[in-house]
Amino acid sequence: MSSPSNGKSAVVVGAGIVGAACAHRLRTLGFDVVLVDRGAPGEACSFGNAGRIATSLVTPKAVPGLLPRIPGMLLDRRHPLKTSVAFVLRNLAWCMRFARAGAPREAARITDALHVLLSRGDAAIDRLAVATGATDVIRTDGVLYVYQDPALAEAARDSMAESDRRGTPVHYVTGDQARDVDPAIPASVTCGFHKPGERFVRSPIELTRKVAGAFTAAGGVLARDEVVRLETRAGYPPRVRCRNGSYEADKVVIAAGAWSPGLAAPPGIRILVVPERGYHAMLPHAGMELKTAVHYGDRLISMTPMTGGLRVSSGAELADVDTAPDWKRRDVVIEGARALFPDLDDSGATRWMGPRPSTPDSLPVIGAHPEHPGVLFATGHGTLGLTLSAITAEIVGDLATGRVPDFDVAPYRPDRF
Ligand SMILES: Cc1cc2nc3c(=O)[nH]c(=O)nc-3n(C[C@H](O)[C@H](O)[C@H](O)COP(=O)(O)OP(=O)(O)OC[C@H]3O[C@@H](n4cnc5c(N)ncnc54)[C@H](O)[C@@H]3O)c2cc1C
Repeated sequence: MSSPSNGKSAVVVGAGIVGAACAHRLRTLGFDVVLVDRGAPGEACSFGNAGRIATSLVTPKAVPGLLPRIPGMLLDRRHPLKTSVAFVLRNLAWCMRFARAGAPREAARITDALHVLLSRGDAAIDRLAVATGATDVIRTDGVLYVYQDPALAEAARDSMAESDRRGTPVHYVTGDQARDVDPAIPASVTCGFHKPGERFVRSPIELTRKVAGAFTAAGGVLARDEVVRLETRAGYPPRVRCRNGSYEADKVVIAAGAWSPGLAAPPGIRILVVPERGYHAMLPHAGMELKTAVHYGDRLISMTPMTGGLRVSSGAELADVDTAPDWKRRDVVIEGARALFPDLDDSGATRWMGPRPSTPDSLPVIGAHPEHPGVLFATGHGTLGLTLSAITAEIVGDLATGRVPDFDVAPYRPDRF
């Protein structure tokens, strides 16, 4: 049990990379902070991602011309996109908003708003890594996008050009040039794109643990409990009700990833965040070694060299958080990786599924509740939660201390849906 004291008490709900970074930031700013999670830090979606600090990905998911292609994607067994009619019907508002986000003018607005965050993402990650002793987790070997089918590379050219225009150097490479960058790239690759400056982490869980560890070392409190609801009353500080107690604080930060909408509902705000589930396999004895992080464009599969082996990941399965994993999706990921590396050894491979907290407009949800300013949201990061964790935490720190961020954060406000 805790209670507001000097205006500087905070509870952060969710110890994924986003919540851990927010808790660390608030502690650094002098708040008494309790970080509540039902599990250990970083064990949900933040555990299994592809590890990329993907600050070049300025293009939103819904792009002009995508909608007519969706039925074909859903029918293709190998395509990462999967959902069910029941899920779509239960989440019609999200789907309609997604459709609207693909209109040319809206897509351009979203790209600008994403760029504002992404262009600050690398520096913020560096500040967080230095402050938490995590600089050694970051690898600077660059990212390669590789293609066997040149037509698919051609289709990606516009978004690559957009990344380049927005400040991340992207070089078109022939198959041989790709092999010069990373000798493991096979002869079947005809072309690709190289992002030499883009970074990735060798272990996402290690990053979150280091951030959470630095938070507790600085006097922050990590509480293992399940939050059952958030209570708000005009004129009173918000209260977080857990299974084993409750916390009242000047600021409550909802950073519960794909579970955030369930916590946001009682105080009367609709957060359009749905679980977009991805799958990975860790291959401890892959039989080959990558130097760079590789995105295999023909099958939309990420391959990241990490501590403990090669991580192959993919999947955009729109399904409820508590629906059982469809492990066939993980097998499709390995099968896809074999289309690039036929001799890939999957002995001892692990399997994992995690839900990205995805918004229909590909923008995160960062900001204060319109009626309860003590409640802040830091969620909805979709495919970019690791990348945007540190800049999100800096914005949350600004909002909690009443400092106006030095760029416009209105595009991310929670009441935009
Ligand atoms: C396959 C895959 C690849 C990805 N690749 C990348 C990548 O390369 N780069 C990138 O930037 N992003 C990537 N992402 C996305 C990224 O992993 C997520 O955006 C990010 O992990 C979200 O972090 P989070 O802290 O918001 O959520 P989570 O990590 O899911 O954390 C939420 C926390 O809230 C806790 N919680 C929820 N409800 C409650 C409750 N009621 N009580 C107590 N605790 C609760 C959970 O236990 C959990 O620990 C990828 C995702 C996937 C699935």
